[in-house]
Amino acid sequence: MGVAENIRRIQDEVGDAVIVAVSKYSEDDEVQEAYDAGHRDFGENKAQDLDARRHRFPPDVRWHFIGHLQRNKVKHIAPYVHLIHGVDSEKLLVEINKQGKRNNRVIDCLLQIHIAEESAKFGLSPEEAVDITRSEKAAGLEYIRVVGLMGMATNTTDEAKVGAEFEGLAELFRRLKSAELPGNMRMEILSMGMTQDYPLAIEHGSNMVRIGSAIFTQKLRKN
Ligand SMILES: *Cc1c(COP(=O)(O)O)cnc(C)c1O
Repeated sequence: MGVAENIRRIQDEVGDAVIVAVSKYSEDDEVQEAYDAGHRDFGENKAQDLDARRHRFPPDVRWHFIGHLQRNKVKHIAPYVHLIHGVDSEKLLVEINKQGKRNNRVIDCLLQIHIAEESAKFGLSPEEAVDITRSEKAAGLEYIRVVGLMGMATNTTDEAKVGAEFEGLAELFRRLKSAELPGNMRMEILSMGMTQDYPLAIEHGSNMVRIGSAIFTQKLRKN
């Protein structure tokens, strides 16, 4: 099956949810295939890869940064990034704001919540996320917008466990959605679900899925 067919099939399954096609392991020709079929949302998890790739594609691609973002890398992606999924500290938010200002653009961000068992996955605890939404400092950042939450479930075939983790994130999302938030924050996007767990994520209210292996067939990338 081709890339375009894969996207069509997954879009049928996820309904209105946005598919971020995670191109980190694939070569340009497959990304081009998706682009030619009309797909515009692509995700990379390394700033240097994102930076290199975006020069090889038309400017109407919406580039999502889905990985762990180091503060010293923000300046590279700030001029064009569509959405930063992995904000895991107020310090990072402050740096994104600084680079947004330098580029005279407001940068949309998601707070990454740690929902998995593995300690290796980055993210804020729900309490820390709530603290950011209540922080005067964060509320004063004019060049960022917090537009939702992102999370990654434990890498396991135990559906009950993954489902419970997604539900926890969805619950926090709903709670913050009904809370009074500062002007630069709103809860619109719930980014959860990847190749192995996106149907479950959708069941729990995800409206953005990040999918690599189920779309792209190649696994040729260096590193
Ligand atoms: C790689 C990656 C994905 C996509 O993973 P697949 O299992 O290939 O769908 C989604 N989210 C993040 C944060 C990733 O790093």
